[in-house]
Amino acid sequence: MVAFTRVPFVSGAGAEALAELRVGHVPAPTGDAPITLLARVPSDECGCPEELWRIEGFDLLFHFEADGRSEVFIFAGDWEQETTLEARSLDDLRAKAFQWFADIMDTADAN
Ligand SMILES: [Zn+2]
Repeated sequence: MVAFTRVPFVSGAGAEALAELRVGHVPAPTGDAPITLLARVPSDECGCPEELWRIEGFDLLFHFEADGRSEVFIFAGDWEQETTLEARSLDDLRAKAFQWFADIMDTADAN
């Protein structure tokens, strides 16, 4: 088992879904979502699909380009990171952007 060390969060819909999925205790709705999709919109510059997520207080923005070479940003106040990721779709880019985010946070924890 891995110890649960995060702040608990359960949405109203989450409590309903857990009531269907769990055989044991179902937690009541509590807390603020640690990960939220803030926006899914066409870019204001070129119209490409963009998503903006807030993850544990960091903003993750990615922009899916037709050639598959897509820009990804993390913003946190004055601190910013940027990379280019190869992706075949917006869904693939989202998965890779979240992986890049986790890699960056692991590196930040190590320093
Ligand atoms: Zn574009």
